[in-house]
Parts: sequence; C-alpha cells; structure tokens
Amino acid sequence: MRKNKNIETIAIHGSLDHSSGSRSVVPPIEVSTNFEHAETGHQDGDYLYTRHSNPNRLQLEKVLAELEGGEACAAFSSGMAAIGSVFQAMEEGSHIIVPEDVYHGTRKTLNTFGKRWNLEFTFTDMRDLEHVQNNIRPNTKLIYAETPSNPLMHITDLEKVCALAKTINAKVCVDNTWPSPLNLNPIEFGADLVMHSTTKYLAGHSDILGGAIISAKQDEMFDRIRSIQQGQGAVPSARDCWLLCRSIRSFPYRMRAHNENAQKLAEFLSDHPKVKEVYYPGLESHQGYEIARAQMSGFGGMISFLFDGTEQESLKAVASSKLITRATSLGGIESTWEHRRSSEGEQSHSPKNLIRLSVGLEHPDDLIEDLRQALD
Ligand SMILES: *Cc1c(COP(=O)(O)O)cnc(C)c1O
Repeated sequence: MRKNKNIETIAIHGSLDHSSGSRSVVPPIEVSTNFEHAETGHQDGDYLYTRHSNPNRLQLEKVLAELEGGEACAAFSSGMAAIGSVFQAMEEGSHIIVPEDVYHGTRKTLNTFGKRWNLEFTFTDMRDLEHVQNNIRPNTKLIYAETPSNPLMHITDLEKVCALAKTINAKVCVDNTWPSPLNLNPIEFGADLVMHSTTKYLAGHSDILGGAIISAKQDEMFDRIRSIQQGQGAVPSARDCWLLCRSIRSFPYRMRAHNENAQKLAEFLSDHPKVKEVYYPGLESHQGYEIARAQMSGFGGMISFLFDGTEQESLKAVASSKLITRATSLGGIESTWEHRRSSEGEQSHSPKNLIRLSVGLEHPDDLIEDLRQALD
C-alpha cells in the first residue's frame, strides 16, 4: 500500500535526490558506465557497473515502487522486456493463466517463447472468475491480469482473482499500463507484481521507451526478476531514467486530465450515429462498469469503439482526422488513434471495425469537433 504521502507529492519528491556534490535541486544524469572500486578491489558503495545499477535508475525504481506501494522495482528498457522477465522468472514447468484479450505483444511472446521457456499457458476470458477457476492446473503458478484489457476493455475483478490465487499458492501479476498508478493500485487488492510499460502515461510524451516490474514484497520471485534484469541487461539508459523521472513529476495532473477528456469523448461517441458500440469503463453501459468503479479511482484515457461500417470505411474514418494523429501506442499528451487490426497484423484478434483512441490533453471541444468531422 502507498505509504504516508499523496500521489502528487510522491511523484515529485520520490526521485529528487539532493545528495550529489553540487547540491543541485534536480539530480544530474550520471552517464558513467563504471564506478571506482574500493582499495580492496571490490565495489565501493551502491554502484559498480551501470548494467547492474546506476544512480538515475535507482531514483526511477524508488519512485515507481512508491507510486504503486511496493517494496521493490526493477526498471527495464521496454514494457515487453519487463513482461518477459516475469515469465522467465517462473520455475520450469509452471502453468500461467492469461487473459484472452491481452496486449498483443504479450500473447505473441508466450506463443513464440513460452514452450522454449518450458511454460504452459492458457488464455481465458477473465471477466468471469469461473473461467479462471476452471483453467487451474496443479502446476498453475501465475495468474496474469490486464484490466481494462487491450483493446476490448474487459474488466477483471482483482480482489477476487487475487483471493483465488492465494488459495492455490499462485502469484498475480497485473499489467497496470492503461489505468496507471493514479487510477488503480493492484497491490491494494492483493497483487504480487505490477507491470508497467512506462512508455505510455508515465512518460506521457511519446519520447521514451521503458518498462518496470514493481513487487509488493522484496522476495525470492523479485530476486529472480532482478537477476534477469542485471544479467540479460535489457536496462534503460541513465538519460532515459532521468527523463522518465522528470515526466513522472507531472504525471498525476496529466493523468487526471486524460481521465476527464476521455470521459467527455466517450459520451460524445456513445451518442454518435456512426458508432455502433463504445468500450470505455467510465460509461454506465459498459459491461464491467460496476467493478471498474469499485476498484478504480478514474477510468483512464483509452477508448475503443466499433465504427458502423466496413474495415475500409473504418480506415477511412481514421484517415479523416485533422487533429488526432494516426499512430499506434498511447498515453501521450497528443491524441492518437488507429485501426487496431491493421496495427496488430495477421495474428490480430481485434474486430475489423474497431478504432482505438488514446485521448490526449488538447481541449476536449476541439477533439470532439475533429471526431465529428472525421466520422461524418
Ligand atoms: C505498450 C504496452 C505494452 C508493451 O510495452 P512496450 O514499452 O511497448 O514494450 C504492454 N502492455 C500494454 C497494456 C501496453 O499498452
């Protein structure tokens, strides 16, 4: 659980370290790859070699752990490197339960490497706890959740999933990229691990690639993740860590505005004649609204919707925007949207008329005006 301070204060002070020689208010970027040994030839202090640790990375890991209320954090060079470390940290022969509607990169990683890593895995619809229960095997060691899921916005009841996992002695890892730590803190509901693609809302400006695993406890599982981080070396550079800490200082205020804008746009889209269905957990009509409202303090900046038309017509609508940029990814201050199936490629599970919108921080009236002219 997040201790003592409020999220705005943690976001700012969690990574400000005034201990450098110059007493600078903002920490310097420590570009050195190596650090001087003690006379004994051993490591002197916290640092030896930057793949193992670095002052900027330590500041980043500290603030991320605090934001999620965890004891430890390992920062990676991408969200996928972070997710891969969790799967690789599982004991050989473990079985993992994964949501059917999971981020496509996660599905692809398991389908490509799962067997080689000696893992069994099952994709299931986690909206219904019974599906999770029915897929439990004697060797089920991890339940992996993503709520809202990508791109269909399925909501998983984290409290129930975590309680179920405890009964079988399995861990729960939650991909918290979409809600962000402002809207959801999986550790409060009993999750063991929280994953972030920091590329998205935490970076917030579409200019840093990064990932992180936050662990509720400094335990054996986390030690394995740490050794994968340090040994395989998919670590973020000191410059990226520094920039990400800078971005995180304003993240809670940005995220609140993403929530507000997305709610307005979701309501506009719900009433639009060219829109068949809107998937946004902040709409009362959403299938998972009640659970989302109970476990989230805001509904995030992502909206998916079904365009009333063919695949070609959906692509044309996306191409008609004047303000919203045609691009994948999400969480930037600028609004972006995409025909999701085209981005995901051949293995895509997304409906042919699904458009995924990352609502940015432009004025909502201007965004609504752009949606109006693009959809007509
Ligand atoms: C982007 C994303 C990832 C992957 O993160 P990268 O930083 O692109 O490697 C994982 N999960 C979700 C929900 C994402 O949106």
